[in-house]
Amino acid sequence: MRYISTRGQAPALNFEEVVLTGLATDGGLYVPESFPQLSHDEIAALAGLPYHEVAFRVMRPYIGDCIDEQTFRDMLKATYASFSHDAVAPIKQLNSNHFLLELFHGPTLAFKDIALQLLGRLLDHFLGKRGEKGVIMGATSGDTGSAAIEGCKPCQHVDIFILHPFNRVSEVQRRQMTTVLAPNVHNIAVEGNFDDCQAMVKASFADQSFLQGKRLIAVNSINWARIMAQIVYYFTSAVAVGAPHREVAFSVPSANFGDVFAGYVARKMGLPIKQLIVATNANDILHRTLHDNDFSKKTLLPTLAPSMDIVVSSNFERLLFDLYQQDGAGVAALLESFQQQPTQLDAGAWSKARELFDSLAVDDATILKVIADAYQRTGELLDPHTATGYLATEQCARDAATPVITLATAHPAKFEEAVIKAGFAQGAALPPHMSDLLQREERYTVLPAELAAIQRHVAENQAASA
Ligand SMILES: *Cc1c(COP(=O)(O)O)cnc(C)c1O
Repeated sequence: MRYISTRGQAPALNFEEVVLTGLATDGGLYVPESFPQLSHDEIAALAGLPYHEVAFRVMRPYIGDCIDEQTFRDMLKATYASFSHDAVAPIKQLNSNHFLLELFHGPTLAFKDIALQLLGRLLDHFLGKRGEKGVIMGATSGDTGSAAIEGCKPCQHVDIFILHPFNRVSEVQRRQMTTVLAPNVHNIAVEGNFDDCQAMVKASFADQSFLQGKRLIAVNSINWARIMAQIVYYFTSAVAVGAPHREVAFSVPSANFGDVFAGYVARKMGLPIKQLIVATNANDILHRTLHDNDFSKKTLLPTLAPSMDIVVSSNFERLLFDLYQQDGAGVAALLESFQQQPTQLDAGAWSKARELFDSLAVDDATILKVIADAYQRTGELLDPHTATGYLATEQCARDAATPVITLATAHPAKFEEAVIKAGFAQGAALPPHMSDLLQREERYTVLPAELAAIQRHVAENQAASA
């Protein structure tokens, strides 16, 4: 399997190189040159298999010969053994044709675990094979940081440094990061805001001389391996509700478009997906683009579904590349124009997207109403992100005969503020394996928002553990 850049100017890479590289040298994102196919019979045969076995069959063609089969099977077994539910991603029926896919049974209670638990092991495998050490740096306002830390905890060849704004993330979110005491995990509380954290991480990627030759690795959602790992649960859940013998639809709480793009890839591989519903919060660039062909930036709005607070959806570029029939120059020109002013997709590309995608934007007041209403009707307490997907299913499902699967992207205990505001004064209880989180020992270093101080800390501490 070869991977090519969405902007057409970077060298093609194999899977191993793509995992270690992140962004392409031309500024584009890597995508598979073509999508492998699973036949009707191969999809039917997935029914009843353990999650890690479906994962193996769905992902094997993307790996090529970069990892031998037995090693990859063992890696997948270990990856998904860290989930607290045997099914990994269990499905619940809400009414006759609305299902909830619970993606929050991983170590940090959000769907990002499904990909980051695997990405950590892939990085460790490739770096170990090369005899290299890697350094991961990331900035977080809460969610991605903890999932990345949990994913890298078992790694022997990776040190991870996560910057979060000191005293500006919730206690649960901070503790999910700072109570991981593995020697290769380094939490830095920056005396500044999230933008300061992000700017210093960006500057460190731009000039890596402070690391004296070690490889700096990004684990944000542009890494292809994260998309690849997310394709799997589209297959497991669709098969559970009757695919490939009937068509299914999905509703996906969306921000960077990584999760729903994985659904698009599943369809390209042969899964009979009739409709993909994109749900956003008030940060609605995806909804405006898909619904009105208004491809333009708006100011960031902080919402009750903070993991979906974005201005630009980075993975949308991967969809554009496919809609533009792999015309890298055309995608580059469109994105260039988008950076300058409000723009529009090519009419043919946009109407092709409309055949498959519907969308809905959900504001904070509506999120609260949906949490209360869904609880009353189904007995399920939804987290604020999942609530956007739930409402989008109710409003956008095209026909009553097709089952719709709403992706539940986080556990409600993770987003207490919204749950309490929705009328549940006690909040939601943490699941049993996390119930002592508030008593666990924490470790983190407080540093000023100064690039030199941060880089000195990273250089000294990765050297110590090498
Ligand atoms: C990251 C995240 C999303 C958005 O996923 P994308 O792949 O960025 O579209 C939705 N819900 C939760 C809880 C998340 O953490």
